[in-house]
Amino acid sequence: MQSPWKQDFPIFLPHAHPHLCYLDSAATCLTPKHVADAMYHYQCYMHANNPKGLYQLTAYLSDLIEQARHKLASFLGAANDSEIVFTRGTTDALNMIAYSYLEPQLIKAKQQEEPSNIVISAAEHEANILPWQRLAKAYGAELRVIPLNAKGVIDLAKYTALLDKHTRLVAICHSSNVIGVNNPVEQICKIARNKNIVTVIDGAQSIVRCDVNVNSLDCDIYTFSAHKLYGPTGCGVAYIRADLLEVMRPYQVGGAASISQHINEDLEQRNPQKLELNTVNIVGIVGLVEAIDYLTDMSSQKLNDYLCNLSAYMHERLNLLPYFQPLFPIQPKQIINHSIACFQLNGLNSQDVAGLLDYEGIAVSVGHHCAQSLHRLLGVDSSVRVSLGIYNDYKDVDHLVSALESAYRVMAV
Ligand code: PMP
Repeated sequence: MQSPWKQDFPIFLPHAHPHLCYLDSAATCLTPKHVADAMYHYQCYMHANNPKGLYQLTAYLSDLIEQARHKLASFLGAANDSEIVFTRGTTDALNMIAYSYLEPQLIKAKQQEEPSNIVISAAEHEANILPWQRLAKAYGAELRVIPLNAKGVIDLAKYTALLDKHTRLVAICHSSNVIGVNNPVEQICKIARNKNIVTVIDGAQSIVRCDVNVNSLDCDIYTFSAHKLYGPTGCGVAYIRADLLEVMRPYQVGGAASISQHINEDLEQRNPQKLELNTVNIVGIVGLVEAIDYLTDMSSQKLNDYLCNLSAYMHERLNLLPYFQPLFPIQPKQIINHSIACFQLNGLNSQDVAGLLDYEGIAVSVGHHCAQSLHRLLGVDSSVRVSLGIYNDYKDVDHLVSALESAYRVMAV
């Protein structure tokens, strides 16, 4: 049976890619017609810049952005709309936090001749390693890495042991883009909160479940990209708790940062616009809001159940292949977001496997998926990653499995 949502994705239309077997949603989700239409409508019929009060269209656009902020605040369970900052994506948000929040903290600690450390996990995407690594090097701070337990999630006891009074920030992913299961973020944040340590959560792979509540997670910062949620690229969101936002010093400055500015005087800044740098990606925001409406209208529970069942089927079928070597074995009941399976086929080069899958019309990721350190830790330099979206169905999984069987037959000689 075809996925009931497949028809919403024009990429599968006869004149586009009707036979595409897209198994790369962890890299980016395909775009539903609703999202593309909303963006087209905005760009053709509404587009202007948004400083309020210039003319009617601009007033409308300012309202549109503030309504979008409101929608995002309720989608994430944030207390105030002003805690929502529009960004260009997860990587952009994490860099912004590094330079607008962490760097001033490290400078201050260094001036007071105090040591600093930053805590991340062994399963981070490079977007959630490199900004911290660069600052750690620049200011002589220590980058501490939490190991994973046998289930592929952060080991809480080892995590707790890494924290001390010099920990300036904990940055971890809600869900790894390689292992795919959720970290115990609520407990991680609680432990940090009790020690007054700021928490940054990379939600790029978990946002798609539409069940994030920053209030119950009690994190300080939560970031994600719209394109991992069936929205457009180049747009994302950072939830930043109000008191933290207050002390953040924008590392880039421009028009929207200031309420009043005179040469030789300090900027007077407003939140959260001080972090948004003037003209935001309005069409991206329109697409993001539409994607949230699209997913929530259909009941995220229904979508998650569908994907969980499909994911269980995929893992079950893959595990039956004698030469299937998962990077990390997934337990059947673990929460899976983009329904990821990262693997190698015994003795075969992953690039070659992906090449043969492509030949069969199956789109997957191959390489280290921007998680080189995790690959190194797991003793491999490259893997094939398949990941599911709401347009996939059992037929796609069957197609994948039979393509892997023939790839192995052809190559393992
Ligand atoms: N973190 C994780 C866990 C991701 O999967 C990704 C995207 N692959 C990113 C960060 C970076 O997202 P973006 O490229 O949209 O900035």
